[in-house]
Amino acid sequence: MLGGLAVAAAAVSAPLPRVRVPERYPFHLGVASGEPGSTTVVLWTRLARDPLAPDGHGGMPDTDVAVEWQVSATGSFAALSASGVEVARHADAHSVHVVARGLRPDAEYFYRFRALGEVSAVARTRTAPAPGTLGPPLAMAFVSCANWESGYYTAYRRLAEEQPDLILHLGDYIYENAPVPGAVRRHEGDEAITLADYRRRYAQYKTDPDLQMAHLIAPWVVVPDDHEVEDNYAGLARADDYPHLTAGQFRARRAMAYQAYYENMPLRPANAAHGAGMALYRRIRWGRLATFHMLDTRQFRDDQVCGDLIEVCPDADQPGRTITGAAQERWLLDGLAQHLGVWDLLGQQVFFAGQRSAAGAGNMDDWEGYRAARDRLQRGWVDRHVRNPVVLTGDVHQAWANDLKADYADPDSAAIGAELVCTSISTGGDGTGSTLVPDAAVNPHLRFFSDRRGYVRTRITADRIQADFRAVDQISRPGAPVRPVGSFVLEPDHPGLITA
Ligand code: FE
Ligand code: CA
Repeated sequence: MLGGLAVAAAAVSAPLPRVRVPERYPFHLGVASGEPGSTTVVLWTRLARDPLAPDGHGGMPDTDVAVEWQVSATGSFAALSASGVEVARHADAHSVHVVARGLRPDAEYFYRFRALGEVSAVARTRTAPAPGTLGPPLAMAFVSCANWESGYYTAYRRLAEEQPDLILHLGDYIYENAPVPGAVRRHEGDEAITLADYRRRYAQYKTDPDLQMAHLIAPWVVVPDDHEVEDNYAGLARADDYPHLTAGQFRARRAMAYQAYYENMPLRPANAAHGAGMALYRRIRWGRLATFHMLDTRQFRDDQVCGDLIEVCPDADQPGRTITGAAQERWLLDGLAQHLGVWDLLGQQVFFAGQRSAAGAGNMDDWEGYRAARDRLQRGWVDRHVRNPVVLTGDVHQAWANDLKADYADPDSAAIGAELVCTSISTGGDGTGSTLVPDAAVNPHLRFFSDRRGYVRTRITADRIQADFRAVDQISRPGAPVRPVGSFVLEPDHPGLITA
């Protein structure tokens, strides 16, 4: 291992730097990187001396603050690869989103910040391979759903210990809900409604040392799901569980939630929220090896039909229904047509494969409630000769591995791709350990299930993807080990899953 990595490993296994004057230390929310390109990466921090200050501003002054940043090929920072000064604006809750440029492709880097006379932790990041090159095997892991109250973030810690090259977060980074009785951990405040509420919720989550460690080890590529705004919201339709907001009030709430999401994520300035909107669907290219098509299935979707729950619902077959919006659907199909890399991976939020109970009921909040949209996309990638596309999914708080089929009602229909569903980091609590696929008899294409907390670890080469489901025994107490619960192999010219 490089000397620099040892420094980063020491930095992540030790507590964050304890400072002489704790109330002046502005890096209680940690640091992060994201959006790796072949010569660029985004560096993030948000200054807060008192993370849970009631006004959401983290105990910071109502002035802007200068933040120095440094990038180096070594953890000693003996020579700098890039550096500069960015302004942490009060209007953005003193967050900074630096695009570090001029880096070498396929390289490991270290970065840190300095502000108000204090220095942040040192973190590790990396760039993607040069365009047109395969690069070495890619260790990518993906996660979702980290409800603070549900338990400890042991799965984030175990993930960091595996030192992946890249982490995808597929949504529910925070939960806006009010506290529930009997929770393992109590969060501060009621249901998040105002900008200050959302800022404080992110601040509380980001004080967690296990979450900070997962950001310290690798760049993240993030997309939000519903709980970054409100459970099961659809476009500008407020969800059924919070009906007393007017449409205008919900629009304002979504705008504040998107603003807080941007402030707290390692996104590019181009992803900043504008009014109630946010430009989030995008491609992350990993040389010629892989293209990550990151989707936004919340902002532009039609409202759920038959409510948000598991229903028998013929209206879900309406041909015009969309979960991505027309523009994003076109963008996705255009991108898939270009065969930009060996692997096309779709990083997105909600369960994609057909999934119905014996009585014919499906989840109206996932692609089962938008069947025409799923059919258009699947037909689109078959028509464009995409080799074994892989859909990466969060949301359901269970691990699944699925073959994707042109016709889910026909067991003899050929596989046309695969879906890997990560379980939650914490949402849902310890789980039972069950690995029995629900409704397996009527869904033979659903091939793996686990209800433990954890993540999916992949190793991606031009010949295959090895996908390992990893789980911790419990999160009601800290410190559980991680163990393998299932593995699959994917090959470019063998659509669907291969049992490892
Ligand atoms: Fe969730
Ligand atoms: Ca969700």
